[in-house]
Amino acid sequence: MPEKINLEMLRNIGIIAHIDAGKTTVSERILYYTGRKHKVGEVHEGQAEMDWMEQERERGVTITSAATTVFWTNPEDKKTKINIIDTPGHIDFTAEVQRALRILDSGVVVFDGVAGVEPQSETVYHQAEKYQIPLIGFVNKMDRMGADFYADLESIHERLTKDAYPIQLPIGSEANFQGIIDLLTQKAHFYLDEMGQEIEMREIPDNLKEKVKKYRTQLIEKIIEGDDELMHKYLEGEEPDLSTLRKLIRQATIQGKIVPVLCGSALKNKGIQFLLDAISLYLPSPLDVRPVEGFEPGNEEKKITRSASPEEPFAALAFKIATDPYVGKLCYFRVYSGSLPSGSYVLNTTTNNKERVGRIVQMHANQRKEINEISTGEIAAIVGLKNTSTGDTLCDPKAPIILESITFPDPVISIAIEPKTKSDQEKMGISISKLVEEDPTFQVRTDEETGQTIISGMGEFHLEIIVDRLQREFKVNVNIGQPQVSYKESITTSVKAEGKYIHQSGGRGQYGHCCLELEPLERGEGFEFVDKIKGGAIPREFIPAIKKGIDQAMTEGVLAGYPLVDMKVTLYDGSFHEVDSSESAFKMAAIRGIKEGVQKASPIILEPIMKIEVVAPEKFMGDVIGDLSSRRSQIQETKTRGQVKVVHALTPLSEMFGYTTTLRSITEGRGNSSMEFDHYAPVPTNIKNKIIDGENKK
Ligand code: GDP
Repeated sequence: MPEKINLEMLRNIGIIAHIDAGKTTVSERILYYTGRKHKVGEVHEGQAEMDWMEQERERGVTITSAATTVFWTNPEDKKTKINIIDTPGHIDFTAEVQRALRILDSGVVVFDGVAGVEPQSETVYHQAEKYQIPLIGFVNKMDRMGADFYADLESIHERLTKDAYPIQLPIGSEANFQGIIDLLTQKAHFYLDEMGQEIEMREIPDNLKEKVKKYRTQLIEKIIEGDDELMHKYLEGEEPDLSTLRKLIRQATIQGKIVPVLCGSALKNKGIQFLLDAISLYLPSPLDVRPVEGFEPGNEEKKITRSASPEEPFAALAFKIATDPYVGKLCYFRVYSGSLPSGSYVLNTTTNNKERVGRIVQMHANQRKEINEISTGEIAAIVGLKNTSTGDTLCDPKAPIILESITFPDPVISIAIEPKTKSDQEKMGISISKLVEEDPTFQVRTDEETGQTIISGMGEFHLEIIVDRLQREFKVNVNIGQPQVSYKESITTSVKAEGKYIHQSGGRGQYGHCCLELEPLERGEGFEFVDKIKGGAIPREFIPAIKKGIDQAMTEGVLAGYPLVDMKVTLYDGSFHEVDSSESAFKMAAIRGIKEGVQKASPIILEPIMKIEVVAPEKFMGDVIGDLSSRRSQIQETKTRGQVKVVHALTPLSEMFGYTTTLRSITEGRGNSSMEFDHYAPVPTNIKNKIIDGENKK
């Protein structure tokens, strides 16, 4: 049986970081110190426990988000159960991070002590803010050349939040990183050896006393803010005791008032035990977070909330489907209320399927532990669910609820793939559908004109990984085409349009007629349909057919056949014929109405704009910026970071194919870049014309 832990001592955390900041190493050391693993494996030796997929190991990149359970006893002698949801580090996989964020209660953001806040940490931080996820920061790599805790802190203040407060200070840095001062206990922990095995507590070194005082005062003043009694005593010279300080930090962190910042060197095993203490002491349990919200199936108006209690009916969210080479399909889920014994049945309210729960397993990287029952707040995986995908709600069949699902951005890039042989062709379909099931930002469709299979994802790297997995895991060999940008179309003015589908010569006729108003919406708002038919101008039974027609028309714009977005369609009038009207006639009328309306509404083509960061030595900057400008980039800022320059720019994705190769050649291999989707924007007229006439046409 798994160890029973009070719900208040459970933590569901994610470790969030920019690629290479040290997330894998931090996770590893956590496994090491929590006693599940006895040997410290280095990432570059390919032994990282969390990187269990073959190509992840090769690339040293963590892609899937697996959940791992560990136990840690905190300084107040309380045993804590920590479920770590492994979040990926690469830009192209922001969707995976988002999915993980949705089911986390809190997170640890790992920063590179040299590089500070990098673009993805910024994006993820703002997403965490959106989901109101309490965070603590860990400034890693304090041993590395160029590490500077205070510069890192400044970049956190500047780019993420003013509310980041150190609760530790480093003693020395780079090769001279000797230890860590705890600002609460005011004790200095010195590491006596290179690999952080022996610790000695000493007095705070004289040269750091001032700094300790400054940061400690700032911290205390912040956390007692709002508590008049404590503030009064504090002003009289009486400080809260240690346990009160911890409580206050915990409260402030959970309320999002502060982000406590720690430091260390994961590689050298320094600071990890304190990080585990902080996770236990300051991050929320499932009881501290808001009760989950959902609604009754079939009735979105009827809201239901479930609090984190085993007494409530069972409700859980499936957040990850993984294909495991040994046990088959694994469905990871987070339980929000109630409990679930193995062998019972659950209702998938998203698909309206009842499914039998075979085995329930909890994961420790690639090791599984079978459990008989899973309860509120926990994270585990079910083996053998057939009809469940990412984002589905699983619940007690007697108390149906649909939890708010996870939303993902649409893919921005596509390539055509073609099986190499006949046997590849047979396997390709099934393999791709498995991958689609696992990854909600990966899509597949067949091009109606060419018959080609088109796969779409969040970036070149994302699709590269997919093709790699097809070959490696599913043994399907494919040829791939040129990457294509996923353009979209939209309108810029409001218009009224009429769609008619009327044929009434001889026999039974056709009669559909609808009046539509088309209005542009803000970027990213998608599509909205409003039905304003009053007084039976069109009988109610035809409205769904009109909606279907509009949906169909929205899949293909009038300029170059790309999907229409960011548009509101109001159905405000129309007419019908007693005998000749039919669903199909109204559907056709709606399609015609949309086509006519969009033509009149000054249509535009939208292209994905990427946020890019380029880091390179100063002497190459002229060339880097010149090259970016020739790619229609808007340079947003250039900064100095240590020995190098950093450029932030917004650039159309269509101009960025093969960029890494160019960058390498103009910087003699010393430049680096990272890129992620930012927003869709209208293309300039000359490019629009090229897309309409030219090779880019869908
Ligand atoms: P991830 O991409 O965020 O998972 O980062 P990894 O854990 O794979 O680390 C990236 C690189 O940084 C690896 O070569 C690590 O050995 C190295 N690294 C991680 N932590 C530290 C640290 O504390 N100090 C130093 N010097 N290097 C580190």
